[in-house]
Amino acid sequence: MTVLHNRISQAELKKLLYEETEHRTTISFYQYFPVDDDGRSFWVLKIKVREKIVADGIDDPGFSMQNKGSYVNAEQMNELLQQDDTIVIDMRNHYEYEVGHFKKAIEIPSDTFREQLPMAVDMMKDKKDKNIIMYCTGGIRCEKASAYMLHHGFNHVYHLEGGIINYAREAKAAGLETKFIGKNFVFDDRLGERITEDIIAKCHQCGKPADTHTNCKNDGCHLLFIQCDDCAKQYDGCCTVECQTVYNLPLEQQVELRKGIDKGMMVFNKSKKRLRPTIAEKKSYK
Ligand SMILES: [Zn+2]
Ligand SMILES: [Zn+2]
Repeated sequence: MTVLHNRISQAELKKLLYEETEHRTTISFYQYFPVDDDGRSFWVLKIKVREKIVADGIDDPGFSMQNKGSYVNAEQMNELLQQDDTIVIDMRNHYEYEVGHFKKAIEIPSDTFREQLPMAVDMMKDKKDKNIIMYCTGGIRCEKASAYMLHHGFNHVYHLEGGIINYAREAKAAGLETKFIGKNFVFDDRLGERITEDIIAKCHQCGKPADTHTNCKNDGCHLLFIQCDDCAKQYDGCCTVECQTVYNLPLEQQVELRKGIDKGMMVFNKSKKRLRPTIAEKKSYK
């Protein structure tokens, strides 16, 4: 039997991709689907059935993904946004909202999706009869969030089909006004796709308008933060003078310093506080 395996390393594939000139279209898709039994499957290909694709903390047996909010496309989204009493809820993380969001969108300030759902219900508890539109990057989170809101007695819940990614593409193709301003944060090397020229965030170091996310160059830190070009030069792409000092040490010394420091979830840690490092918080690298 033929065994399939990768013949080219990931690093090499990435390099080839960046060098090619061919235009590519990226497709992402998902489907929530109840599975009773997978039966016998392939010998090598592994398909994993996950109880949850998104850690949502919902354990209510009465909750069903079959009753979801109504989908809206870009045109319908714009129409609903014209109405004064429409409420728009951003279901993403703080660092995503920070660089780009729909005009008048409300942020649900929690660090995890699990906490965000009940928080959204609580924040909106007096608005059960209003039009509520939920959105996220690709649609998967707010599909669940809209079902959760309906489950909690909200009557007019919508969610943006395909998320911001699809909205931007549809709006452009149809020549519609884009009501999403700034950048759409994405988890690839770009760390953000510009939707409009508006720069709505500030450099975390000097406060100047900036919306370029970067990971601190110190390998023992890798903090995700917003840095302007001037600060990138001044701090060699690091988040603090402390990290800059470490970054400029010989490699062996850096490795030595990193021993015993568990950076675990730091890279994409979601809390607001985490994104605004202070010198006091950097003591661990001294
Ligand atoms: Zn700056
Ligand atoms: Zn750092």
